[in-house]
Amino acid sequence: MIEKNVARVKAEIAVAAAKRGVDPHSITLVAATKMNDGEAVRRAIKGGVDACGENRVQELVQKNGEGAYQGAPLHFIGHLQRNKVKQVVGVADLIESVDSDRLALEIEKTAENLGIVQKILVEVNIGGEDSKSGISPEELPGFLARLDKMPHLKTEGLMTITPIGETPEETRPYFKRMYRLFLDMKDKKYDNVTMKYLSMGMSGDFACAVEEGANMVRVGTAIFGQRNY
Ligand SMILES: *Cc1c(COP(=O)(O)O)cnc(C)c1O
Repeated sequence: MIEKNVARVKAEIAVAAAKRGVDPHSITLVAATKMNDGEAVRRAIKGGVDACGENRVQELVQKNGEGAYQGAPLHFIGHLQRNKVKQVVGVADLIESVDSDRLALEIEKTAENLGIVQKILVEVNIGGEDSKSGISPEELPGFLARLDKMPHLKTEGLMTITPIGETPEETRPYFKRMYRLFLDMKDKKYDNVTMKYLSMGMSGDFACAVEEGANMVRVGTAIFGQRNY
């Protein structure tokens, strides 16, 4: 089932990429693995997802200990507390959800101690929702300028969790706004900040996100089925 679901998601990504006129292989499919066990994760990787995205540190540590992510890069996609940074830096290939100066500084310090460079994305609160973390579009240029001065961080793009819409069409304006922001940031000249990835779109709207310029999507339910909370 999981392998089939991955194939279907990839086929839908291919259709959306064709609509936008981009190579489907340029879209990174991240399996959002929360609440799914190591076996499910292994099947998703076998099915051909490009990366796994975990959003709870405890689950990441446990599944990583089981070797569940072998064969796929690991992303951290959840809200990261500073006291858990040590468990994630150097373990996750990409931390997608950097959302404050304090968190960035903690990651920088930890990466420096390990003698590594940690790849990150900046989470943007594109809907301006109080319930969501993320940097506001207005604060983003200044935030990126500060990240640019942190030698143990490599900033590779932006991530967002859009406000929940009833349909993908309700979400489309947010995707458009994010893409414009992504291009604006690309125009700025930083040394250590690139705009390689735009991570947006989940199970209900990943095709729409790709149509609007996402090159990284994070898909859980459409691959693993409904989560049992
Ligand atoms: C769970 C999760 C997703 C995927 O959500 P689905 O609707 O199950 O596809 C994407 N991004 C983040 C940050 C998540 O926590």
